[in-house]
Amino acid sequence: MEKINLASIPTKIEKAQFLTTLLSKNIFIKRDDYTGIEFSGNKIRKLEYLLKEAKDSGCTSVITTGGLQSNHCRATVAACVKIGLKPHILLRKSQEVINQGNLLLDKIFDAKIHFCTPEEYRDNRDQIMITIAQDSISNGEKMYIIPEGGSNALGSMGYYDAMKEIVKQEKENNISFDTIVVAVGSGGTYSGLYSANMVNNYKKRVVGYAVCDDSLYFTKKISLINDNLSHYLKLDTPIDNNLIEIYDNYKGVGYALNTQEELELIKYIAKNQGLILDPVYTIKAMNGLIDMIKKGHFENSQNILFIH
Ligand SMILES: *Cc1c(COP(=O)(O)O)cnc(C)c1O
Repeated sequence: MEKINLASIPTKIEKAQFLTTLLSKNIFIKRDDYTGIEFSGNKIRKLEYLLKEAKDSGCTSVITTGGLQSNHCRATVAACVKIGLKPHILLRKSQEVINQGNLLLDKIFDAKIHFCTPEEYRDNRDQIMITIAQDSISNGEKMYIIPEGGSNALGSMGYYDAMKEIVKQEKENNISFDTIVVAVGSGGTYSGLYSANMVNNYKKRVVGYAVCDDSLYFTKKISLINDNLSHYLKLDTPIDNNLIEIYDNYKGVGYALNTQEELELIKYIAKNQGLILDPVYTIKAMNGLIDMIKKGHFENSQNILFIH
C-alpha cells in the first residue's frame, strides 16, 4: 500500500525522567504531537494512506466527521488543502459554536463546514456524509469519504507503520519497550499498533485507554478493523484479537469533559515533566497508566512507551 508523505516522521522518543522516578518504571514518551504544525498529532499518519487513495481514485474533495473541536477534522482539512483537495467536514454541534481552537483553524483553511445534532451524529453520521457526497456530484465534485477518526483498515496502516518505526528506534537506541500505552477515541491508532505487534511477533503488551464508549465497544470495533486489515495485508492467518486490552474506567465524567483531578494532573505533569498533555485524550490515558502502575497492573513491565 502506498501513501503520501505529509507527516514529520520518525517522531522522537524521550525518556520522561520525572515520571520514571515517580512510578519506578522507565517511562518513555513518543512525541507524535510533533508530526507537524497544522496537522500535528496522530491523525496525519492515517491520512497519509487515506488521502493517497482519495487522490488515486480521482476525487476532488474529501468529507470527514467529528466533534466540534475535532483534531481529526482539523488535520484532514489542513492536509487536504496542502495537496489540492477541497475539504468538507461534518461537525457534531454539541455546544455553542465559538470560533476558537480547531474550529477556527478549519475556517481559516476555508473548509466547507456542515453541522449535525448530537443525535444525528450518533445514529446517522455515515449516511449524512454519503448524502453530502452524492449531492456534491452536481457541483462537479467527486468526494472521498473518511470515517470518524480516519479509523478503518487503510487508516490504521499509519500506526502499523508507527509500530515498525518504534521497533527501528529500539534497535538504534538499544532499548526494548515491553509495553505500549495509547489513548483510544475511535480505535484506528490502537488497531495499527496492535496489528503490527501481532503480525511481526514483537511480543509487546499494547494497552489502550478509552476516552468514550466502553471497553466492549472498542474491542469489537478494533477487532473488525483488524479483520479488514488482515484482508488488506493478505495474511494467511487473520490477526488474533484475543490480546486486545482496552480499559474504560478512566474516561472520567465523559468525552471532552474533565474532573478537577484530571486538570490538576495536567498541571502537575506540565510543571514537573515539562510535558503538556491534552485534556481530551492523553491526560485520561496517563491517569489510567499512573493509577494502574500504582495498583500493580504493570508488574511485568519495565520499559513503558506512552504515545503522545
Ligand atoms: C484521535 C486522538 C487519539 C485517539 O486515536 P484513535 O485512533 O481515534 O483511537 C488520541 N490522542 C489524540 C490527541 C487524538 O486526537
